[in-house]
Amino acid sequence: MPSSQPTPPSALSRSVAIIGAGAAGLCAARELRLEGHNVAVYERENQIGGTWVYTPKVESDPIGLDPSRTLVHSSLYHSLRTNLPREAMGFRAYPFSAKDGPQRDPRRFPSHREVLLYLEDYASEFGLSELVRFETEVCYVGLMEGGKWEVRSRRRRDGEQVDLDEIYDAVVVCNGHYTEPRIAEIPGIDAWPGEQLHSHNYRTPEPLRDQVIILIGSAASAVDISRDIARVAKEVHIASRSVADGAFGKQPGYDNMWLHSMIESVHEDGTVVFRDGSVVLADVILHCTGYKYHFPFLETNGAVTVDDNCVGPLYKHVFPPVLAPWLSFIGLPWKVVPFPMFEFQSKWIAGVLSGRIALPSQEEMMEDVKAFYSTLKASGTPKRYTHNMADNQFEYNDWLAAECGIPASEEWREEMYSAASKNRRARPETYRDEWEDEHLVLEAHDDFKKNL
Ligand SMILES: Cc1cc2nc3c(=O)[nH]c(=O)nc-3n(C[C@H](O)[C@H](O)[C@H](O)COP(=O)(O)OP(=O)(O)OC[C@H]3O[C@@H](n4cnc5c(N)ncnc54)[C@H](O)[C@@H]3O)c2cc1C
Repeated sequence: MPSSQPTPPSALSRSVAIIGAGAAGLCAARELRLEGHNVAVYERENQIGGTWVYTPKVESDPIGLDPSRTLVHSSLYHSLRTNLPREAMGFRAYPFSAKDGPQRDPRRFPSHREVLLYLEDYASEFGLSELVRFETEVCYVGLMEGGKWEVRSRRRRDGEQVDLDEIYDAVVVCNGHYTEPRIAEIPGIDAWPGEQLHSHNYRTPEPLRDQVIILIGSAASAVDISRDIARVAKEVHIASRSVADGAFGKQPGYDNMWLHSMIESVHEDGTVVFRDGSVVLADVILHCTGYKYHFPFLETNGAVTVDDNCVGPLYKHVFPPVLAPWLSFIGLPWKVVPFPMFEFQSKWIAGVLSGRIALPSQEEMMEDVKAFYSTLKASGTPKRYTHNMADNQFEYNDWLAAECGIPASEEWREEMYSAASKNRRARPETYRDEWEDEHLVLEAHDDFKKNL
């Protein structure tokens, strides 16, 4: 593995609280420590990995509306395999290579357990677990007079509870954004007698055996889950915004799955009426409708808000201009290859905090954010897509790389991402086991060897 780069002699060391020990928090811990900062990582669970810690447990409220419910962090379902090839998905500093071992899954698109093992390897390679305070939930983060941050946390261990109140120069938020469900608004839902469930609380298809399911959504997990449940359900009806009203039809390859446009209304007699005019008597509505950004611990006096799932204002999705660089967020952009992006963002934050990398003035950052919002508005992009990187992720990473003075994204990674996306569309059933970009796999491995 590449050895630690020395800390630049002129750099300032800051005390930094990192919230969360998922992939983003671990990466932030590594990069900030490399830069010479003093970091403490708060993690409310008893292990690292965040999303990648699968649990069969589900929440008491299956659609996640009850704010007093006991939280389950991870949204993974049992059958989940990655939707990105491992070569492209892994950190640049620590390739996600197949390993031998009884518990390991060498496949190119491995099961979720393999990702957790990889993150554990990453943490152990760089000695990151020792920086983590496990079973310690951050309950409050707020700015104090004089510009420091107060971090209040609660550690629960062996039936004991310890409250802590500490002060830091800076806070980096890495709490993940796949835990707080967003559900579809459906006219008539209050009187509809069926059951509802959000994909956050979906684990295995068995509880849905012989039922008629309406699944709302069309993103990666919606596609996976629809196929998972079609094996046991009586009927699966997929309602999707991306299906035109006239396009109602059976899914090729299935005799119990149909595609519909969105739901128009639902009724007391259990029926669901779609905009395409079809009517189905259903037992369950399964919302695969995504998640909300949620920072219940954060008090910024309005400097950062979440409005229609846009967290802002944030300069380049990371720094709120008026609080920069003392508050930052890692991992907000979606439709990305997350781990390498976490590295770019973390290196940028680390360098800015030490004074090695300069940020524009507050006013300039705010102007940049406003200009970005205007572009989104002019192109008719809904606010909730503010952090959707769509086709811009590599441009974004390269911008961050230039700020940090490090090499841009590898060409093979970008090409592999685009080949995998194309393959997924062409072979939705088999893309994880059949591909045509073997030449890129070889290129990636050559690259990994060079960096050893
Ligand atoms: C179903 C699903 C499938 C996915 N598939 C892929 C894939 O194939 N490939 C891929 O690269 N990515 C995938 N992702 C994206 C995945 O979320 C990222 O890979 C990555 O795990 C996100 O890391 P994170 O650290 O930002 O968040 P998380 O992994 O969610 O970690 C956040 C951590 O913060 C902790 N935390 C939260 N609040 C507090 C608090 N107040 N105090 C203390 N600790 C707190 C949590 O316990 C958690 O450990 C998938 C996501 C989902 C939901």
